[in-house]
Amino acid sequence: MNPENYLPLSYLNAWEYCSRRFYFEYVLGEMVENEHIVLGTHLHRNINEAGVMQEGDTIIHQQQWVWSDRLQVSGVIDAVEEREYDASSPLGNRQIIPLEYKKGKMGRHLSDHFQLCAAALCLEERTGKAIAYGEIFYHANRRRQRVEFSPQLRQMTEAAIRAAQMAETGPMPPPIDHKTKCQACSLQNICLPMEVKQLRS
Ligand code: SF4
Repeated sequence: MNPENYLPLSYLNAWEYCSRRFYFEYVLGEMVENEHIVLGTHLHRNINEAGVMQEGDTIIHQQQWVWSDRLQVSGVIDAVEEREYDASSPLGNRQIIPLEYKKGKMGRHLSDHFQLCAAALCLEERTGKAIAYGEIFYHANRRRQRVEFSPQLRQMTEAAIRAAQMAETGPMPPPIDHKTKCQACSLQNICLPMEVKQLRS
């Protein structure tokens, strides 16, 4: 199978946010912009070009294309940083850190963690190196969050990948029961979560 046909990393984020949203966007190709999406695109404008730069001892690869044949996922990581380990590290001279940029505020956003962890799993497969953690830069409060790739997060990420892949061929999931997510969702007028729930009851 061509890696370009694998499940995109960004849709794994959509899957964790809402399986129905994933279905609309990935399976049916529905895309509607709202202020959250426009702001996210705007904030990504400075990092949307592939390239390599150096800041001190850190080498930064922007817009890195990665994939995993084992998991059948692929996509672009906003940046991959190569940094020096401390001298006592048994892991070699340089460590690899995947980095994603998000427009919101730092929090425990499992959807972002799944996307980052899946990117790390791809990078590990491509490089043969173990990756202990990644980072997410949240624009809203301009802070970096370190995300440890624990065995539990790896297992949950792989389970989400498998579930999203199976959902591609299944029926459309029902609306989720999460008012805050639905209010922020650009697909609300297509999904009609309240109306669908009323009809179902
Ligand atoms: S409106 Fe709610 S249920 Fe519908 S796709 Fe968006 S988040 Fe999911």
